[in-house]
Amino acid sequence: MTASAVDPTGRTVDHVPAGAGSSGSGPAEADWAAAVAAVEDLPPDGRVQLICHVNPDGDALGSMLGFGLGLRRRGLRRLRATFPGPPEVPEPFRGLPGLDLLVPATEAYADPDLVICFDAASESRLGELVDRLETAGTALVLDHHASNTRFGHVNLVDPHAAATSVVVEELLARLGVPLDAGIAECLYVALSTDTGSFRFEATTPAVHAMAGRLLATGIRPGDISRRIFDTRPFGAVRLFGEVLSRARLEPAAAGGHGLVWTYATLDDLTRHDQRPYVLEALIDSVRCTAEADVSCVVKQTGPGEWAVSMRSKGAVDVSRVAVALGGGGHRFAAGFTGLGTAADVVGSIRVQLDGALITPGA
Ligand code: AMP
Ligand code: MN
Ligand code: MN
Repeated sequence: MTASAVDPTGRTVDHVPAGAGSSGSGPAEADWAAAVAAVEDLPPDGRVQLICHVNPDGDALGSMLGFGLGLRRRGLRRLRATFPGPPEVPEPFRGLPGLDLLVPATEAYADPDLVICFDAASESRLGELVDRLETAGTALVLDHHASNTRFGHVNLVDPHAAATSVVVEELLARLGVPLDAGIAECLYVALSTDTGSFRFEATTPAVHAMAGRLLATGIRPGDISRRIFDTRPFGAVRLFGEVLSRARLEPAAAGGHGLVWTYATLDDLTRHDQRPYVLEALIDSVRCTAEADVSCVVKQTGPGEWAVSMRSKGAVDVSRVAVALGGGGHRFAAGFTGLGTAADVVGSIRVQLDGALITPGA
């Protein structure tokens, strides 16, 4: 959408979507039109199943619930939101508006009229819910991963968007749904988590403009940020201390750009009486290491199975490492599922790093 496109919400300021910019490789007009039609063609009693990716983060949950609230405002009543795996919402997101839309994966509509997937780069991120892509009348994909495999009937994928919520805001506008405080809070949580509180390179002027539109609804950024980023149980503080104390720095790795890594086991979680999601924030305490371009946290999820988070400061394209090891993500933030011991998993990363160096100017 260009700045001159019709703005059905009647916003006074012509806006450039936060995903617009560089190369215009976002959704085509025909894709937007097909997505709008998929929603507008639903009968009033149409069943809509919203699904976000496994182990949902702020963008996954915020985008899904924000869009769900928007559909509710359009008068749709048969709306369910869910994600694969245990129906446990990470504590920081338990205050999100629209949580009443959420059902366990086992209670998702078996054959919805419309299924909408949020922030999932591939079918594998839908876990046991992947069959809904077949059983649904229409499958709509909203995402911003460059590695997205376009697995829906209609795909709104904008690799330049800082978060999936950027795509959601645009689609809501095209559907004529105005932002209210509930929708805005969901989209703000999504935007602020995926931009690292507006610190990452993806924080364009358009991202701040979108944040401005969200804040204009009266939501309170201080309260939201404290809840999302700055609150954790004392047990998690102690757990972080222990896991950080075993971090390893390898200055020679990644062609001399350096690798820092640590790991956390299920036993660590048990000893400190903590849930797995508290470890999501751990990468931020590791990636600040000045001597390493690449950082990595290896989090045990089962016997011999690990969820791996990787970050880069610019010398390495960690999404290449992740894709080579069966995962995905973005250039500077990516992940995969690792097998074996933590040392095995780090070994597999080390091997891939040299092939993932970014050539200056490329
Ligand atoms: P995380 O480290 O969990 O915050 O994830 C960073 C990025 O990598 C996100 O964009 C995720 O979507 C992506 N990612 C993480 N784990 C996986 C995985 N197992 N498969 C595909 N993408 C992943
Ligand atoms: Mn995500
Ligand atoms: Mn995202």
